[in-house]
Amino acid sequence: MQATSLSFCAVVGDAADPLAAREHKETPHAYRSAFQRDRDRVIHARAFRRLAGKTQVFTHRDSDHFRSRLTHTIEVTQIARTAAAALDLNEDLAETLALVHDIGHPPFGHAGEQALDRQLQRYGLHFDHNLHALRIVEYFEQRYAGFRGLNLTLAVREGIIKHSRDYSLAEHPELRAYLLDELPPLEAQLIDLADEIAYLTADMDDGVEAEILSPGDLCRNVSLFEEFYRKMEIRYPDTAPKLLFHEALKRMLNALVNDLVVNTHRRVMEGEIDSLVAVRHAGRRLAAFSEEMEQRRHQAKQYLLQELYHAHYLERDHALAEEIIAGLFQHWIRHPLELPMHHETQIASEGAPRVIADYIAGMTDHFISEQWGHVQASRKK
Ligand code: MG
Repeated sequence: MQATSLSFCAVVGDAADPLAAREHKETPHAYRSAFQRDRDRVIHARAFRRLAGKTQVFTHRDSDHFRSRLTHTIEVTQIARTAAAALDLNEDLAETLALVHDIGHPPFGHAGEQALDRQLQRYGLHFDHNLHALRIVEYFEQRYAGFRGLNLTLAVREGIIKHSRDYSLAEHPELRAYLLDELPPLEAQLIDLADEIAYLTADMDDGVEAEILSPGDLCRNVSLFEEFYRKMEIRYPDTAPKLLFHEALKRMLNALVNDLVVNTHRRVMEGEIDSLVAVRHAGRRLAAFSEEMEQRRHQAKQYLLQELYHAHYLERDHALAEEIIAGLFQHWIRHPLELPMHHETQIASEGAPRVIADYIAGMTDHFISEQWGHVQASRKK
């Protein structure tokens, strides 16, 4: 058995496991597990393909090398699988949860999400990408004759809701089926941290590509990066800073994943957690960085918040995201009949603001820009 094995806490996912149950009963597959089937359903979903056209942090205005939501998702998946495998957890479940974790994100990255939320707040509502992701897999994806949605297992739907935050039953009675008074399994807990590791390192990479950040600035402000960069300078003298940067960055990523694996294992052992039931009732999330690594991660994140996410370079994109989302949202509030026909019944039951938000959230950067172009052109007529 591996030194860091937590197989006794893993989600089993076999035919007898209630977490592998689906709302609509299906015959087990000859050679794919329930979570492998869920993974394949996510990959074949239209919403998954649209991630290729959604901004992560940088649009593809200046470089095709920046991450999109899709390539970010693949990087999170790689990290989640590595950590789940090292901990002997259910790798298929972790992989599926990572692949689906950003499926509910609107166009234009974080700025788009904030703009959409601001519009909904005017009607006493909120935009939440986890809840939107659940609506996508339960309702909007239509691939089966017998039911709506992808009919995913309970474990995957629970993980979509709970991987990054806790929801109270009082505020969300509609989520009763998702065991809100219990913590999610470790496979789901890992996703949020795999996401952190992926975007922290990727955003440093893209930030240097965009020439907003430099290896020198990173050394002065991010101790974890500096530690590895200095070692690489000694090991590879006379090597271009760009290569030292990549050598340092991948070591930083590896150190974060290693710390997550070792520390999560340590917390389970120290808490005398011996089963999935105990994970669910541990009182705190067990997947976590060590205290020291958490401080260094925080330092890196704060630096990126100050220097990258609010950089002048990105301001134009953020302003455009706000203009387009606010403009289209208000246009459709005034002219709901201009929405595609099939939205009519949904408007009757859920109201125009929610339906418009769902429609906008599903769009790619390209499609929403095109829609905005049509609206502006029709106004000029
Ligand atoms: Mg993410």
